[in-house]
Amino acid sequence: MSEINLDLYNQPKTIEFLVNSLRHNRLAHSYLFSGVEGLGKLEIARYFVKLIQCLNPKDDYRTPCGECGNCRKIEQGIFVDNLEIDIAEDKTTISIDQFREELGKFLKYSANESRYKTCIINQFEKTREEAMSAILKTLEEPPKNFIFILITGNVNQLKQTILSRCQLIKFREQTLEQVESRLIKYYNLDKPKARTLALLSAGRIKTALSYIESDIYNQRVLLLEKLSKILLEKSFFENHCFYNFIAANFLKADKESDGKLKDKRKKIMYLLDIILHFFRDLLVIKQFNDKRFILNIDFEKDLKKLSENYSQLEIQKFIHNTIYCEKLLYFNVNPNMIFENIFL
Ligand SMILES: [Zn+2]
Repeated sequence: MSEINLDLYNQPKTIEFLVNSLRHNRLAHSYLFSGVEGLGKLEIARYFVKLIQCLNPKDDYRTPCGECGNCRKIEQGIFVDNLEIDIAEDKTTISIDQFREELGKFLKYSANESRYKTCIINQFEKTREEAMSAILKTLEEPPKNFIFILITGNVNQLKQTILSRCQLIKFREQTLEQVESRLIKYYNLDKPKARTLALLSAGRIKTALSYIESDIYNQRVLLLEKLSKILLEKSFFENHCFYNFIAANFLKADKESDGKLKDKRKKIMYLLDIILHFFRDLLVIKQFNDKRFILNIDFEKDLKKLSENYSQLEIQKFIHNTIYCEKLLYFNVNPNMIFENIFL
């Protein structure tokens, strides 16, 4: 059975609370997992579901047995008493139609094979208004033995009426050292690489792992080397060669592969994030001239040189434009058009 590495996500208080509520038979009808992206909320929600559904949990309720009928069915993806709702591949929100289609059917029947029916709704803040009202109704009069786990990256976007009906579970960012040591321990990274990824991911372990899996770390070096070079030459002002570089090296390769749009979007978001962090460092060096505060420690020399070439206003403009591009991407603008905007 594929077991979750709880230490990787490092949320011991959360785990203890959830395990305790199961151990003492005090499960809530609805939980709201809240915290920024990349902390492992969905993974821990899935683990909690496995724990709730397991007929014979081990280690004082901490570990699903992996052998009972429910555990086996969950593992094979044929378990009918759990439902996971998420934004569809080609959409940016969860619509009322999706809700009716998926949740409506699920709510109709009581648990088939187990004591509870469990439902995870990921990215809950991106649920459309009418769908949100539908879920609120369900939470007001929860069907017997149904347990909801709502996951959100932004609790401020949710109404008080929703919040008041959920058991709030907060997830926290890990410290720089905690992320670094986990990357070294579980992914065999050398210290400088682990350090850089920990800095860039700002305590979000899953973000750090995405950087590794999508080869973003290596692309980051290439991207920043080229970006520094172009900025030092100031040549992009004349011929937009930075855009050409991105288009040729990153987007073209993606076009050829049959990668999903969602993955492509994610990858460009990471690249934009890297650029944003770089410009942020540049501003920090410009203002304070203190390397202790920079994230891209391996580019310290370039940052120093660049800070002499650019005014604070120019750097701020780079930052604004990069954020603008991220917003465009967030609102579903075609990723191919994004980089044209960076240096406008
Ligand atoms: Zn089991």
